Amino acid sequence: MATASQSEVQFRFVVAGGGIAGVTCAQQLASQFPSLDIVLLTAAPMVKTVSNFRQVSKTLEDFEVEEQPSSVLEEKYPNLKVIQSAVTVLHAKQHTLLTENGQVFHYEKLCVCTGARPKLIIQDNPHVLGIRDTDSAQEFQKRLSSAKRIVVVGNGGIALELVYEVEGCEVIWAVKDKAIGNAFIDAGAAQFIIPSLEAEKPKKALPCKRTRYTTDKDTAPNTGSEGPGSALGPDWHESISLRGAEQVSPHLIALLEPIHSVLLLLKIAVFPFSTGVWPIYAQLSNGKTYGCDFIVSATGVVPNTEPFLHGNNFDLAEDHGLKVDEHMQTSEPDVYAAGDVCTAGWEPSAFWQQMRLWTQARQMGWYAARSMAADILGEAIELDFCFELFSHITKFFNYKVVLLGKFNAQGLGQDHELLVRCTKGLEYVKVVLRGGRMMGAILIGETDLEETFENLILNQMDLSPYGQELLNPNIDIEDYFD
Ligand code: FAD
Repeated sequence: MATASQSEVQFRFVVAGGGIAGVTCAQQLASQFPSLDIVLLTAAPMVKTVSNFRQVSKTLEDFEVEEQPSSVLEEKYPNLKVIQSAVTVLHAKQHTLLTENGQVFHYEKLCVCTGARPKLIIQDNPHVLGIRDTDSAQEFQKRLSSAKRIVVVGNGGIALELVYEVEGCEVIWAVKDKAIGNAFIDAGAAQFIIPSLEAEKPKKALPCKRTRYTTDKDTAPNTGSEGPGSALGPDWHESISLRGAEQVSPHLIALLEPIHSVLLLLKIAVFPFSTGVWPIYAQLSNGKTYGCDFIVSATGVVPNTEPFLHGNNFDLAEDHGLKVDEHMQTSEPDVYAAGDVCTAGWEPSAFWQQMRLWTQARQMGWYAARSMAADILGEAIELDFCFELFSHITKFFNYKVVLLGKFNAQGLGQDHELLVRCTKGLEYVKVVLRGGRMMGAILIGETDLEETFENLILNQMDLSPYGQELLNPNIDIEDYFD
């Protein structure tokens, strides 16, 4: 590090954002360049670290995520300096960043990993909440504890988890799609898991190999409202009670239509200054109006790009993410981006798509660091293998869920066929085929098929000779294709 002036400091590598993408990027740079000082600038007092990383198969990953004070990171990497001060301005041409505390950082290579924030259906309404970080989850918990009815709007992973986990409070779930959870699963899989909503929940979660989120309560400082924190992730709700005001109420879900036709929400109107008995009302496209204690807006995220845009020339994607090429480089020289803040702008493999998930944040952060290093060292680098096949392990309604490749036939139009095997309450297996070759799969339950299907997608073997037999439960498919 060379000090240019008292308030201007110079580093070869600067990373902005203390979530999984930023921390992974900074750790990789710190270990590859032990003699260089690496700086990680972050808005929140806590950082996210990956632990117990395990490569389950070629592309499936299993790891735990811990929220820790930055000192833990600095102890492990003596050349990594974590500074808690949000970036307020970027001057890409001058290669400088300004932070909230007035310091100027001059960089040779910068990686932007500032994540994303909830896309709220209505801004600045105290009765409309988004869930993103520890602070917003705690606010949600506090409000829920005295709530009798809430409206959850959205159909992604967060909405799915919420409607399953919330107890002691009536939940109105408003989705605009034909089936629940359509970002992750299809209508058939939705039908398979819906009975879990009405069933008694198990006391203890069934063991399930998946990403787990933990917060070290002993070391965690009070986060207060000290700027945008990192996004929560899987199991975020396990450490907090999601119980409403009704002591004996069952886990009641009010879907707006009979469950088979699921719900319609094409338009929502909220009346903030209602004179009724509820603090807020939601009018839905089916003509009904529901009063509730508050609305949870779980309708996706918006990348946190604002401090970086003014006066610079970034290519932005349609979803407002910083567009990155196959080296995670943005359109501004020497500025890379990774995680939720960026949008993959390269021609993706036939079996990969970007989804704003923990696993991809880690992979992108790691690969961005490798690309930054390769550039400095004048080495060539190829797109990492992890971007060959989309793969994700998660848990919905207490079922283990594995998603592979084009699991929802994304981008395949009519040019595909589906094979489905379903045993009520036990497993749901769906395979997407094109021209007899496997393009993707959804595996719900303990199917043990993930590795075999991963191989079948990657090697594009012609499976047409097997027809329906591919999913015959009496055939040990693992042995068959070994
Ligand atoms: P983040 O984790 O959001 O980190 C961004 C960092 O940037 C933070 O440290 C923040 O303080 C910092 N920052 C922001 N602005 C600035 C600034 N101006 N200057 C400096 N620093 C700044 N993913 C899964 O894979 N599985 C799940 O089950 C899952 N469940 C989820 C549940 C919830 C409730 C939420 C909100 C997300 C969930 N996700 C899940 C998504 C996952 O958490 C994100 O994809 C992932 O955390 C993105 O990591 P990131 O590092 O890109 O961003």
